[in-house]
Amino acid sequence: MTAFNDPIFHDEDKARAHLETIRWPHGPNCPHCGNIDPDKIAKVEGKKQTHRKGLYYCNECKGTFTVTVGTVMERSKVPLAKWVYAFHLYASSKKGMSAHQLHRMLGVTYKTAWFMAHRIREAMKEDVASSGPLGGEGKTVEADETYIGKRETPRVSAQRKGRPYIKKGKSGGAQKRIVVGLVERGGKARMFHLNDATKDTVREVLVRNADRASTLYTDESRLYTETGTEYAGHRTVKHSAKEYARREGDAVVHSNTIEGVFSIFKRGMIGIYQHCGEAHLHRYLAEFDFRYNRRAALKVSDRERTDDLIRGTAGKRLTYNQTDKTAYA
Ligand SMILES: [Zn+2]
Repeated sequence: MTAFNDPIFHDEDKARAHLETIRWPHGPNCPHCGNIDPDKIAKVEGKKQTHRKGLYYCNECKGTFTVTVGTVMERSKVPLAKWVYAFHLYASSKKGMSAHQLHRMLGVTYKTAWFMAHRIREAMKEDVASSGPLGGEGKTVEADETYIGKRETPRVSAQRKGRPYIKKGKSGGAQKRIVVGLVERGGKARMFHLNDATKDTVREVLVRNADRASTLYTDESRLYTETGTEYAGHRTVKHSAKEYARREGDAVVHSNTIEGVFSIFKRGMIGIYQHCGEAHLHRYLAEFDFRYNRRAALKVSDRERTDDLIRGTAGKRLTYNQTDKTAYA
């Protein structure tokens, strides 16, 4: 049986049951009050079928809910079987999928597909508070920054009295979007969209996301010099001197891992997401992090990745009006 033949992609009741099994392995949880006591939650069932399907009643807060309440699917008119199929497609495709392709595959309008894709990316966002920082004692975290695409709003320079940065008549890296990335060797990556790369903004990202007991590997950029002293160790490679890797005792100092993460992201953005608005960049970054952090090399199957994505839909909402707000780290 190919994945597409699975009834969860075609049958509403089976799709709903599937979502419930993944989201509530021990029985329904009330999204309103957090009640998880199965004796205090009842399925609303009536012969007349006047109620919504999959409705539950919570005896604790007297509220009702379904499996989509409090998730990115809430209030969506898209059938659950199509949502489940879309989760499968996004979690199992290696490079992501455009809204155009989703629109064709699901048979929903382009606008619906576009909005679904953004809600799926929102669900892919890592809950940094619960997963904790990268690295730790004896571990290596590589950090680097990269510049992609043109900024929609030119960055203004304080020195130039509010006029944009101009270098010899043309704007260079200063007018591109800035992404800072961290990766634990052999582990997970996190990328962030920054409005401005200064030692302070970069420090914020570093100390929030990389355990200070780690050894930090960066290039020689001054963005990392001061913050590097807060880490158990800080080693740098001199890219300006064409040095890309250096052996120091048992360690090989390089930042090839984070550069690899950036290159997967850039290739994906060129091939599929040509017209990514600045406001959406943080969600595309979340999508690539999600996929990288569950890559096949870490022995994560398509099925596990899809289940993770379904669990990630909880506690996240994205309304249509919120989609055009830029989110910087
Ligand atoms: Zn409740």
